[in-house]
Amino acid sequence: MFYLDRLPCPVLVTDGNGRIKYANNDFKRLADATLSGDMDQFFPPASRIFLQTHAWPLLLRNGEFNELYLQLQSGSGQLMPVMTNARISEAEGSAEVIWLFFVAKDRQRFETELLKARQQAQESAAQLAKANLALQSAYAQLANYTVEVESEAEQLAQLSHSDPLTALSNRRALSLHVEHWLASATAQANGSLLLIDIDHFKQINDRFGHAEGDRVLIDLAQRLLHSVRSGDSVARYGGEEFAIWLPDAELDEASDIAQRVHEQIRTLQVANETVTVSIGIACLQPCERYLTQLLAAADRALYEAKAQGRNRSVRHE
Ligand code: GH3
Ligand code: MG
Ligand code: MG
Repeated sequence: MFYLDRLPCPVLVTDGNGRIKYANNDFKRLADATLSGDMDQFFPPASRIFLQTHAWPLLLRNGEFNELYLQLQSGSGQLMPVMTNARISEAEGSAEVIWLFFVAKDRQRFETELLKARQQAQESAAQLAKANLALQSAYAQLANYTVEVESEAEQLAQLSHSDPLTALSNRRALSLHVEHWLASATAQANGSLLLIDIDHFKQINDRFGHAEGDRVLIDLAQRLLHSVRSGDSVARYGGEEFAIWLPDAELDEASDIAQRVHEQIRTLQVANETVTVSIGIACLQPCERYLTQLLAAADRALYEAKAQGRNRSVRHE
């Protein structure tokens, strides 16, 4: 019978006539009285009548009943509404009835708490769904923003590497290109550089206007692109100065390309006057594989071309 003490409700065990055989601790606390004799002593008259006319017949007929409303009366006469479950069984040849009493007040409190908890759960679920929606929209905005930032960054990168007038690479892009090539090329691989400067360009500006000078720069840029091999890099290096990086090209091949540049420009005119360029050609030296030295060598050759009368190429040997 000790297991009955562990149940969280008052429990009574009687024989088939309602005589008390055992009461658990909860019941003893509730009844507040000596536990012997007839169970009827714990019920007020109305519940006693209900027990006799309804509960016992139901129990004897079905062997059990559930959730019948009764009132328990404590030793001090206090009444307590309870929902009663009972089951009859055989024990040692005679009938035994277990009575479980659920205090209605507690039950109501549990139900209220249960309802409150359910309502809270529903509210939490609604809030969660709302938060989820907000999160999804924030993610969508973030994705848009990321795309915008990436495309802006791409545009900026593009701008920082290209010349706005001619759309050629600028000096920085060319340097990066050559440095990259130098870092990965074998010691045997060779590369050349052409520095191209328009002859008397200041006069073109002075005589025909700055806009016409710009047109010449744009036109020349296109002609340079037509002169090179795929894989070569053409850049606007300064005001009216251009550079062509020729990876894997020796001086002879570089000279051929310089010649092609002169030919391409032969038909570039301003007011029937032919535009010419001077070109300095330099090749990487076996022991001096640095861009600065290559540029300095090409610049010396260019200076020499100008000094020799312009409209020509000079190789730095
Ligand atoms: P040289 O044959 O010795 O090279 O003579 P040059 O007149 O070409 O050389 P100089 O360095 O004296 O003049 C270069 C001119 O290029 C001066 C400058 O106003 C002009 N220039 C530089 N950038 C631009 C540009 O973007 N547009 C135009 N229209 N002119 C430019
Ligand atoms: Mg110049
Ligand atoms: Mg010039």
